[in-house]
Amino acid sequence: MSICFNFYCTHECLDCDAHGSFNWHRHGGNGMCVMHDAVHGSYSRKEWVNKILGGTMYLLGSNVFNWKIQHNFLHHAYTNIEGYDEDIAPKGPIRLCQYGPLKRIHRYQYIHAFFFYGLLTISKLIGDFTQLIVYNKAGITRQFHINPVLEYMKMVIVKIIYLFVFIGLPILFTPFGWWQVLLGFFIMHWTAGCILSTVFQMAHVVEGTEQLLPNAEGIIEEEWAVHELRSTSDFGRNNLFLNYYIGRLNFQIENHLFPNICHIHYRKIAPIVERTAKEFGFNYNLKPTFLNSLYSHIHRLKELGMQNQIVSPGAT
Ligand SMILES: [Zn+2]
Repeated sequence: MSICFNFYCTHECLDCDAHGSFNWHRHGGNGMCVMHDAVHGSYSRKEWVNKILGGTMYLLGSNVFNWKIQHNFLHHAYTNIEGYDEDIAPKGPIRLCQYGPLKRIHRYQYIHAFFFYGLLTISKLIGDFTQLIVYNKAGITRQFHINPVLEYMKMVIVKIIYLFVFIGLPILFTPFGWWQVLLGFFIMHWTAGCILSTVFQMAHVVEGTEQLLPNAEGIIEEEWAVHELRSTSDFGRNNLFLNYYIGRLNFQIENHLFPNICHIHYRKIAPIVERTAKEFGFNYNLKPTFLNSLYSHIHRLKELGMQNQIVSPGAT
């Protein structure tokens, strides 16, 4: 366990709080807020600051460009839409979209989903390569003026350095055996993946959030902001530890409506958004506590594992 902890410490990410003080935090959780905000371009007005802090993504062995496309471009623009939002795409033993294929194994996904959530970051070590090929074939690299060959080479080099630092060096310079190092590496990734996936899924795959379909012309018949309200949920807004630990990713409605605003402002923005939504007759999805939201996600996993199409209680 100690080697796991040491690796985990090595994964620490730079956290800059509201008053500009810097702390090195010994957990991957804060990496979420730093990396997430920075890649959204909301951490600083200076692009170079966002670039450097967004680069903490490389400490997870992943790739900034792929995250930008999967999260900023696809997930934020096409939230909870089948075929566009990769966060709800079919993932073998896990079914997160009510329009995805239903298999027998999904029946017990409310139990095994969390194990597979833990494989998120480790699967990216290899999965980034195929994902970049898919984005390139879809013309996304061209759209974002990215040279696919250079990006691919950068990806190979960064991952080799990453594996050398996180696996090679500990094998060479610590008394631990290779299997202990690999075990620690796996536990570290599993912990980070489980926290990240669970937090992100609790914002969109819970009771009350909807998975809208485009019409025959491929158009979502809803204003974008209203669509975000209908497909997203906040949770545990008064939980100060949670606000700190997950970088206010529990204020996902605000993150989706204002991705360019740093998370430190979400707490003040949220009541205004909630009031305005209600004023215009829209449902504002909010689970009062973390446990309410976790239970709701488990319940939704259970539903998605048993039924083909579900009409969410929040659907209008
Ligand atoms: Zn985001």
